[in-house]
Amino acid sequence: MKIEFCDLSLPKDKERKIWDKAKCLVQNRDFILGSEVIEFEEAFAKYCQCDYAKGVATGCDGLLWAMQALGIGKGDEVITVANTFIGTVLPIIRVGASPILVDCDPITQQIDPLAVADAITHKTTAILAVHLYGRLAPMDELLKIANKHGLILLEDAAQAHGAKYKGTRAGSIGKAAGFSFYPAKNLGAWGDGGAMTTSDSKLANKVDKMRNYGQEKKYYHSELGWNSRLDTIQAIVLMEKLKLLDEWNERRRIVASWYYEFLKEKDVTTYLESSENEAVHHLFVVTLKNRNKMIENLSNIGIPTGIHYPVPIHKHECFSEYSFTKGKTFPVAEKQADELLSLPMHPNLTHSEVESIITAISHFF
Ligand SMILES: *Cc1c(COP(=O)(O)O)cnc(C)c1O
Repeated sequence: MKIEFCDLSLPKDKERKIWDKAKCLVQNRDFILGSEVIEFEEAFAKYCQCDYAKGVATGCDGLLWAMQALGIGKGDEVITVANTFIGTVLPIIRVGASPILVDCDPITQQIDPLAVADAITHKTTAILAVHLYGRLAPMDELLKIANKHGLILLEDAAQAHGAKYKGTRAGSIGKAAGFSFYPAKNLGAWGDGGAMTTSDSKLANKVDKMRNYGQEKKYYHSELGWNSRLDTIQAIVLMEKLKLLDEWNERRRIVASWYYEFLKEKDVTTYLESSENEAVHHLFVVTLKNRNKMIENLSNIGIPTGIHYPVPIHKHECFSEYSFTKGKTFPVAEKQADELLSLPMHPNLTHSEVESIITAISHFF
């Protein structure tokens, strides 16, 4: 038995359907912003319970275009969380704004709304909430803060395709959201891809142009744009995989329920979703002392694990010259970085595989 950390395989009939559609594409050569891109955008927007989705080159670009189109830039501060993937923070810097980091909550691992409220200054223009590991950030509290101070609430939904908060899907709660279709995400392409979702028609139109050289029509450029489009071939893959997403997410939830049950008695901290959250478990992340020893032990018997993420944002070398990291400490994020352990998580994990992972963890203790 070989346990996979993440499984990108597709049912054979799905794969065949994608190849058939890809063959048609090669014949009609509609490679860039083809009809399948539009079709997927409509389906994905509907899935996310919002009015518009715009396909872009990467998840980072989804966030970048949302911020740029909203006029966020030089002199603006955007509050986000210290325990995230760097892809949350780089788009803030790319639009010329300053990221302002805050700590996460020790119980939920999500951005701490009290810390957000504390970090607001007269320069703050937006809060970028991250739905880390496929659980939604505390959106009610964040919306309240955003409304009170007249701030834009944005979502980094790169790990949360299909996740719900009080019945509402990720990507439809804030002003706009960025999704990633990196292959290993819950909805992944066969390469890079991303989307921005929103229910604001003006914002959607703006991003529609910006991702395509800012053109109004061919060779007439009304916006300062760039080339950041979702390939038609990727839209074909995503369209077929979108039809499986709810089933896959449900299977992830079942795998998570096995982990929760097994790990209850162990010296490992699990992070249960709160009742308002319907998580999609992009990753199954626990914390424990002796994390590195555990990784070594599991690896010796062929069980793969990960660390998401080993370095909190403010400790990255690339930000050492930036004032937003200078002298900052985020005790919860820092402690977690030393103790985080991601266990195998994908829709095809079986009960007996999870059992053997847990047995190995038990032996370690
Ligand atoms: C994957 C990811 C991104 C970036 O997505 P790309 O498609 O790789 O650009 C941003 N934020 C988070 C939280 C992610 O997990």
